[in-house]
Amino acid sequence: GVEIFRPMRELRSVLHQGMVGLSAAQGIYQVLDDQPEVADAPAASLARPLAPTIAFDGVRFRYPGTRRTIHEALSFEAKAGERIGLVGPSGGGKSSIVRLLLRFYDPEAGTIRLGGHDLRGLSFDQIRSMISVVNQDTFLFHGTVEDNIRMGRLEATEAEVEAAARAANIHGFIQSLPQGYRSVVGEKGVKLSGGQRQRVAIARALLRDTPILVLDEALSAVDAENEAVIQEALDRLMQGRTTLVLAHRLSSVIGCDRILVLDGGRVVESGPHAALMQQGGVYAGLMAEQARESAAGTIIDLPVAVR
Ligand code: ADP
Ligand code: MG
Repeated sequence: GVEIFRPMRELRSVLHQGMVGLSAAQGIYQVLDDQPEVADAPAASLARPLAPTIAFDGVRFRYPGTRRTIHEALSFEAKAGERIGLVGPSGGGKSSIVRLLLRFYDPEAGTIRLGGHDLRGLSFDQIRSMISVVNQDTFLFHGTVEDNIRMGRLEATEAEVEAAARAANIHGFIQSLPQGYRSVVGEKGVKLSGGQRQRVAIARALLRDTPILVLDEALSAVDAENEAVIQEALDRLMQGRTTLVLAHRLSSVIGCDRILVLDGGRVVESGPHAALMQQGGVYAGLMAEQARESAAGTIIDLPVAVR
């Protein structure tokens, strides 16, 4: 049943963040999960490259074989270059939005469009070559730091890997290792902290250079000391890309063009930070609550805005 398959799916989605750029990724999905819920579609012939826009329109979603509806009627749009924040409680369906966007699943009702095209009419390659995901737990494989970064784009040169590492604020750390970029990561090699892994993920995403970026709780596993350097790296990464910022910590979304508040499977409020604060609704309430928790030391949380 579902319980047996769940870890497999989770593993697949963990692998996905790093592997999504590789054509070989398809092979990996097949090995891990030989009965995907969704069949690939033939590539649509496109007159021009897909525009970096996202539209969810009345999306209803449940995980196959489960009862709980995750999204009731989810609608939102991200225009080219927009930065959209999605906030809501843990378990509220934020990461599920990413899985839907990457077409791991299809909605029960409603439509998801990428560049104006229904996802069901695009191939996995067409979809996934548009999108990079940075999330909380970065998958590292047993290999050199250099190869771990190069996973973003296999044909990247040494110079390109280093440039990405610099922009991701991880070059200095890598250089300080005895073997530098050739240092082996993993069990018997170098262990990376949460913040360092996060910066490896950012470097990969910089190398992949996709027009759409998803940051899924990209700052929540990071300590205050690391937060500023990672925020700076994320700012570079977001430059010129359509970005979804998913977070239960509201400080991550303050600078977004628009923030959507998810509750009970719907968008209950939306607007820029200032407007939502003025509205004095769900968002303003959550903000006050997190400020209190933060002051009480429950959350290590510097109000560093996403600019
Ligand atoms: P969020 O990212 O907002 O914390 P998620 O989208 O990860 O929320 O999860 C929403 C709900 O879906 C949770 O209750 C979670 O347990 C459930 N869920 C997540 N992945 C699966 C899965 N593969 N199969 C069944 N249920 C899942
Ligand atoms: Mg999540």
